[in-house]
Amino acid sequence: MSPDESKWLPYIVMSAIAFVLGVLIIIPIGGADMPVVISMLNSYSGWAAAGIGFSLNNPMLIIAGSLVGSSGAILSYIMCKAMNRSFFNVILGGFGAEPGAVAAGGEQKSVRSGSADDAAFVLGNAESVIIVPGYGLAVARAQHAVKEMAEKLRAKGVNVRYAIHPVAGRMPGHMNVLLAEAEVPYDQVFEMDDINSEFGSTDVALILGANDVVNPLAEQKGSPIYGMPILEAHKARTVIVNKRSMAAGYAGLDNPLFYMDKTMMVFGDAKKVVEDIVKAID
Ligand code: NDP
Repeated sequence: MSPDESKWLPYIVMSAIAFVLGVLIIIPIGGADMPVVISMLNSYSGWAAAGIGFSLNNPMLIIAGSLVGSSGAILSYIMCKAMNRSFFNVILGGFGAEPGAVAAGGEQKSVRSGSADDAAFVLGNAESVIIVPGYGLAVARAQHAVKEMAEKLRAKGVNVRYAIHPVAGRMPGHMNVLLAEAEVPYDQVFEMDDINSEFGSTDVALILGANDVVNPLAEQKGSPIYGMPILEAHKARTVIVNKRSMAAGYAGLDNPLFYMDKTMMVFGDAKKVVEDIVKAID
């Protein structure tokens, strides 16, 4: 090896060690913890840039790196808090699902499915409805249709409210932004801790493109997401769930809520389904 080539040797060895370490640290971390890990890795990249800034004596790199590092760390902290997890538990793994572990759980279970017309009938005859928006609502861009539906129901005297889970969607505050964009009045939007006690006395929980944030497995000891706070939609008298299929959510877990006797699944794209409900509400 020439002296020029041997200069690269430490760099190559260090990159290989970093690669192996990176893979080994991330491998045991389960599906539901992945958002935390992603923002944590973002944070690491910022601190690394800041460190290089010190060694190159480059203030710009130090400032930019510190900003990325600290914002990633703050985001990780917010997510850990929302999921009732300690940062060290996340890093040390052991939580979270083997993807599809429960989803592939074995026996065939049956669900009760209905049409948008059926959902409109149930909603129109309810006294109180809590809408739970999730990632699927954002994908379908159905927020304006949802607002129209809520207004139509309110005009019929139904008490319609929205329940927001802190990690619903794909970034903290995702659902708040979505509803604000559709100009949903703030006094109809409730955070998880403020509305959870209301589900028990609510006629209908309408779940639109949400899955993990209403998964009752989180209350079951031994489940991979045990301890993660959820919106207690399963306590409502009737549950209507809209999604396109029986596919699992981000955490890769099946959701027992979908198989409850009081649950009606309305399959289809959230925007199309909500627009059909709007048409069907008389
Ligand atoms: P989930 O990812 O658990 O579920 C979303 C559901 O939406 C899916 O089951 C999917 O089912 C359905 N869906 C997708 N597209 C559509 C559509 N066009 N119309 C109707 N339904 C649709 O979302 P949640 O909001 O319940 O939970 C968020 C998850 O994301 C949590 O696990 C959280 O930890 C994670 N996360 C959160 C972050 C945050 O900071 N907020 C960051 C990163 C991840 P189907 O395919 O059958 O339609």
